Amino acid sequence: MKSLKKNFGSLDLDFMNEYSDEKIYEIFLSHKGFGVKTVSCVLIFALGRDAFPVDTHVHRILNRLGIVKTSSPEKTFEAVKDIIPKGKKYEMHSNLIKFGRNICKAKNPLCSICFLYKMCEFPDKGIYRKRKIDPNEIKENNFIILENLV
Ligand code: SF4
Repeated sequence: MKSLKKNFGSLDLDFMNEYSDEKIYEIFLSHKGFGVKTVSCVLIFALGRDAFPVDTHVHRILNRLGIVKTSSPEKTFEAVKDIIPKGKKYEMHSNLIKFGRNICKAKNPLCSICFLYKMCEFPDKGIYRKRKIDPNEIKENNFIILENLV
């Protein structure tokens, strides 16, 4: 933050409205402490752009589904940033977060009620499908993401 203020004279980002997304990534990523996820959040929340932050939920789900085969959220971001339809990036991001918190959880995913089961490439899905689910584990229905995938 200090280096940004030193370079640009303020922390007000309004001047960046003129810049392309690529230019903004370039500027922030040249400063210590910024990663692509943070810059994507700046693009969405401070500048109103359509961006796709990749956190651990998004990274995990896209890998389990077999959409990417990557070893880090940063690599997942690079693999998918240009293939998500324009205007759908933030929506896709937020639905994947909900899906990751409620269905495709890091531990004990609810594979037995997952509507993506057939297309999912997660090797352990069969094991989790047999697991008995406590009804308290189901917080939201699992159709939250459907409209963004079909
Ligand atoms: S089948 Fe299981 S691992 Fe695959 S997306 Fe659904 S919840 Fe996640």
